Amino acid sequence: MNTSIGTIGNASPLTADAHPMIDPFGRAVTYLRVSVTDRCDFRCTYCMAENMTFLPKKDLLTLEELDRLCSAFIAKGVKKIRLTGGEPLVRKNIMYLVRQLGAKIGSGLDELTLTTNGSQLARHAEELYDCGVRRINVSLDTLNPDKFRKITRWGDFDKVMEGIDAAEKAGLKIKLNAVALKDFNDAEMPDLLRFAHGRGMDLTVIETMPMGEIEEDRTDQYLPLSALRADLEKLFTFTDIDYQTGGPARYVRVTETGGRLGFITPMTHNFCESCNRVRLTCTGTLYMCLGQNDAADLRSALRASEDDALLHTAIDEAITRKPKGHDFIIDRTHNRPAVARHMSVTGG
Ligand code: SAM
Ligand code: SF4
Repeated sequence: MNTSIGTIGNASPLTADAHPMIDPFGRAVTYLRVSVTDRCDFRCTYCMAENMTFLPKKDLLTLEELDRLCSAFIAKGVKKIRLTGGEPLVRKNIMYLVRQLGAKIGSGLDELTLTTNGSQLARHAEELYDCGVRRINVSLDTLNPDKFRKITRWGDFDKVMEGIDAAEKAGLKIKLNAVALKDFNDAEMPDLLRFAHGRGMDLTVIETMPMGEIEEDRTDQYLPLSALRADLEKLFTFTDIDYQTGGPARYVRVTETGGRLGFITPMTHNFCESCNRVRLTCTGTLYMCLGQNDAADLRSALRASEDDALLHTAIDEAITRKPKGHDFIIDRTHNRPAVARHMSVTGG
């Protein structure tokens, strides 16, 4: 039987069995990424096929259910939640969830943040800040409007710039994320770096990961960050720093700009040994690793009872299956990506 021992904000009661989540390799799980929708108003070529099939809306958890799930994770020791997608800001009424979760900051939750393509940021920036969000990641692969249209297929560069301006004005701290793409934005990286640092934003570059079927061949796009780093070091001086944001990025300080540059290298360096995160989809499926197919269904436990005991048991069971690390090996025999689902399902 569950014994209530307290309440986290307006979340579900903290129960006696809500012990912290420690995986079989001794890693504490304190970071939850929530993909609130698999839909998006862009079709980035490395992320999605142009004619993507999305989940039927009826399969989605309601925002109230997502809130309850997040609350269960907070009760079990999650300190940081990142909302992602698809594009989180295209989910209808998403600010309801942001407000609910924001109310838990300081009562179990330390930080609520989101990763966005920036397209809807101009109209949501102030409210995000008002709900307690202080830092956001904006994905931006190029500063050239024509190339931006090419890589996002449907994106409008000016709208994203307006979003960045509005977020800055609202007081949100922005980090830019750029996927490094061979023969697309490699030559432009120095400009992207100067742009970000010139506006006081960190920049993180990411290697493309083989997730989900897309039209292009990912091996054509793949650029190892070691090569990018070597190129950038012809122009800039880097000093390794041990700055941490709770994520897998390894940072350097750039002498010439004074700013920080992060490298996320899932393909060339495995960053799994310090992994503290799990990923929840908008249907209540929990992925214990971005780069593996194993998953746990939390929706059934969520809907089976209003009491969270079953849910906590399902979460505990899932955490015992958190693998040591990912593989991300492209299946060259069948020319298939290592992980069948698209990044937009689990949100990067
Ligand atoms: N729509 C939001 C955005 O673009 O920021 C959030 C979701 S998006 C899936 C999260 C991040 O994953 C983005 O920075 C995107 O560039 C990155 N991404 C998508 N597909 C990727 C892939 N196959 N390899 C590496 N990064 C990828
Ligand atoms: Fe949408 Fe983000 Fe994927 Fe681009 S990377 S298609 S913006 S989910």
